[in-house]
Amino acid sequence: MPDFSIGVDLGGTNLRIAAVTKDGQLLEKITLGVKIIVGRDQVINEMCDAIQRLSTKYKASGRLLGVGIGVPGIIDMATGMLRKSANLPGWEEFPVRAEIERRLSAHVILENDANVAALGEQWLGAARGVPNMAVVTLGTGIGGGIVLLGKIWHGMNGMAGEFGHVTLEPEGPVCGCGNRGCAEQFASASSIMRMAREAIASGEAPSLARAATSDPEFGAKSIYNLAIQGDEHARRIFRSFGRYLGILLAGLINILNLDMFVIGGGVSSAWDAFAPNMFEELRERCMVYAATAPADPLGFGPGQEREGASMQTPSNTERKTIITRALLGSDAGLYGAARVAQQA
Ligand SMILES: [Zn+2]
Repeated sequence: MPDFSIGVDLGGTNLRIAAVTKDGQLLEKITLGVKIIVGRDQVINEMCDAIQRLSTKYKASGRLLGVGIGVPGIIDMATGMLRKSANLPGWEEFPVRAEIERRLSAHVILENDANVAALGEQWLGAARGVPNMAVVTLGTGIGGGIVLLGKIWHGMNGMAGEFGHVTLEPEGPVCGCGNRGCAEQFASASSIMRMAREAIASGEAPSLARAATSDPEFGAKSIYNLAIQGDEHARRIFRSFGRYLGILLAGLINILNLDMFVIGGGVSSAWDAFAPNMFEELRERCMVYAATAPADPLGFGPGQEREGASMQTPSNTERKTIITRALLGSDAGLYGAARVAQQA
């Protein structure tokens, strides 16, 4: 049995832990029922117990290379402390890494959850074999991670890749970060709901208003379903979504000129509703994209990712900017967390 590391996903509703070998083989995955809401100490207890169980089980045949933990929030890489996290109240300014290292006697790395998701997709997902890439995660907000030469690009102190807070409209809606008109106010699940509420309030979207009152779980997914059924008001929301996502990507491509941009997160499943407008905007606004766009940019959908990645091999002189959907779903963060521990 080869050497392995352990990855932890602390970001989701459930705590998930996986043992992964150096060549990316999943040995075992544990999903713990413990909810983040029960509090820091209980989560750390159960997490450490599970890590210990896994490492004891597989240590007989291979070396434990370390533990990587994907955490939602801003991390101080030097101290291993959480500087800011909206999803983990009570964890801020607590020496998370030191506490877990003390209990496990293993090397532990804390990493931002969007960064580990990017590394996971680069290692084993849509961008396998592609050294330079970024992931844009479309969820409640927008997350981002940049991978250069197979390693997470942290910036000065771990705060790089905050794509969601790039200004797209100077006088736009106020964002949780304090700025106005951030990208995540226009291309996230919450922005879809905002646009739907505005359309309903205007009185000009009766179909959305009907859905909002009759569907107890009315949300971004319901609006997507209406859009693919041809509802014009719902389609307009996704056209706007695609347009702003295209503007965001245009900026990223002009600045970074990466081989591949992988679009992940829950809202990426609405790809067919927003991607045509996203690509249209890119072609019109982005000089670098216009020069490097593949002939059929929509042709890199699920099942065709391998082709997308193979276009970017060093032997291919005609390298194109590929924008495609993520492949690993919520497992990207788990694999990426295991990978950072191997790279350390
Ligand atoms: Zn913001």
